[in-house]
Amino acid sequence: MKVIGEESMGIGLLTFGEVDRKEIDFLPAELEEAFGLAARWGPALVVPSDAFHRSRGQYLAAALLEALSGVPPGEFLRILGIADIDLFAPGLNFVFGQALMGGRDCVISLVRLRPLFYGLPPDELLFRERTVKEAVHELGHTFSLEHCSDPACVMRFSNSLSDTDRKSRRFCPRCRSLLERGLGRLCGP
Ligand SMILES: [Zn+2]
Ligand SMILES: [Zn+2]
Repeated sequence: MKVIGEESMGIGLLTFGEVDRKEIDFLPAELEEAFGLAARWGPALVVPSDAFHRSRGQYLAAALLEALSGVPPGEFLRILGIADIDLFAPGLNFVFGQALMGGRDCVISLVRLRPLFYGLPPDELLFRERTVKEAVHELGHTFSLEHCSDPACVMRFSNSLSDTDRKSRRFCPRCRSLLERGLGRLCGP
């Protein structure tokens, strides 16, 4: 796929707090491949102080999205926030990520994507697959894609990591065509 937006806008990858960018250095190229948009690192942001909920020991994903909304428009078409802290949303024990449906911004957490979190030995390849899937999934929401019933589609909802591992990193034909339409509106003449 042709990569557009090379010189100006594209996907911005912005980290929150302590994130080892070397551990996820594969991500920009993977996102370029998935969306056909240029992807590059943006500034590192601090984790908003009101995001942490002491009673849960977790961070409110919406507070990170709120912080992303403060990034001035014009620099990126889409923004993926990346955090290495455990995120939650009201009513859920945790979330792998969250997105503004049809908006610019989304966020993912790396914490639960490492086998180590479950007491299993490190597996770089598995971590990479999971990270790509979660990032593509949340960015998919920013292109107004909803959850998909195709078990192999990247837009399938992940209730647990086994759901994430079961689905592929690819969009099913239906989601792919909806995405292309969204991208066309964004970047068309
Ligand atoms: Zn989703
Ligand atoms: Zn689909």
